[in-house]
Amino acid sequence: MSQDNKGFRPLTLSEFDTLTHLLSKLLSTQQSPVIIPGEAILGIEAIAAGISAPGRKILNIVTGPYGDIFGKWLERGGAEVIEVKVPFDEVITVEVVTAAIERYNPCALSFVQGEAVTGGTNPTKEILDIARRSNLITVADSVSAIGGEPVLMDEWGIDFVAIGAQKALAGPNGISAVGISSRGWEFLASNEHAPRNSILSLLDLRCPHTSSAPLRVPANIPVLEARALIEALTLVEQEGLEVVNHRHQLASTTAIAGITALGLEPWQRKESGYSPLTTTVRIPQGDSNLRINEPIGIVAPGDGELYGKLLRINHFGANANQQSIEQAITTLAELVHQDPANAIAVQRSIWGNEDGR
Ligand SMILES: *Cc1c(COP(=O)(O)O)cnc(C)c1O
Repeated sequence: MSQDNKGFRPLTLSEFDTLTHLLSKLLSTQQSPVIIPGEAILGIEAIAAGISAPGRKILNIVTGPYGDIFGKWLERGGAEVIEVKVPFDEVITVEVVTAAIERYNPCALSFVQGEAVTGGTNPTKEILDIARRSNLITVADSVSAIGGEPVLMDEWGIDFVAIGAQKALAGPNGISAVGISSRGWEFLASNEHAPRNSILSLLDLRCPHTSSAPLRVPANIPVLEARALIEALTLVEQEGLEVVNHRHQLASTTAIAGITALGLEPWQRKESGYSPLTTTVRIPQGDSNLRINEPIGIVAPGDGELYGKLLRINHFGANANQQSIEQAITTLAELVHQDPANAIAVQRSIWGNEDGR
């Protein structure tokens, strides 16, 4: 048998450093993000477990199902959780966040930046601005934002940010990362309720870079996933993160133009709240044409409580391109028994203008 079966070489320190460096660049941070040995949801649960404690009051903004779960994890840790929730066809407004901070005086604020499930995106930079003025610890679930829209950890002052590669970055789902600021580390270290000796312990997952022992690759990092992530992030570097963001923005703009030309409506009520990752299509009341039970290409039924209320166009990652958008528009046109020609022409003209730039 061959001795150089590449898949099973342990991860080298050099590969580990490369991955950490790529993740820092991705998040525009000087910090070394913690590599999470599992799906992004593990990092999110670890943040909740690490920051929650009796006596800590945390403002949790809920604009989709992931925010709901985060609030439950915070409660499990004993924190007093103030929930501010909007209907899932809206995103949060800065006014509502400001009022809630003034009224409840929390020590931390958590929210989801981009919502793949509802097709919404929250006014992230503005939320972080207000939070910083009130000196709050901030937590952003940016799993469905990274690669689709900017995530500027240091400039925006995000203390905890969870990301994964399987949405806009076209990468693996079995490994993810959490960026943590110095303030964030202090907030964890000062919490005697933060888990230790646990896969949910960010303090344990932190790579020790100050001890006298030589640096070693943490044993729990899944090797194949780590290599796949390096590959995905290298491709993103080659294309350029801003170009990747722009491709997603264009997919969103053309998807909205296409569905509107078909006489359909976006599920999200405000244009400023449209996610570049997914476009959600409102299913008119009583309409049975759009009630599909399984995905057709990148057109998928709504998840959970949103089933029957919306369809998702999952134009992210490798599908953030013109061909996928055309297919999705054609699929939707077929579902509503319309000729797709006009809608296709509308979106082609937008992509066409782009090519001529
Ligand atoms: C997809 C997603 C997650 C979960 O990511 P997994 O890697 O599938 O666990 C978390 N939060 C948001 C906002 C997401 O869209």
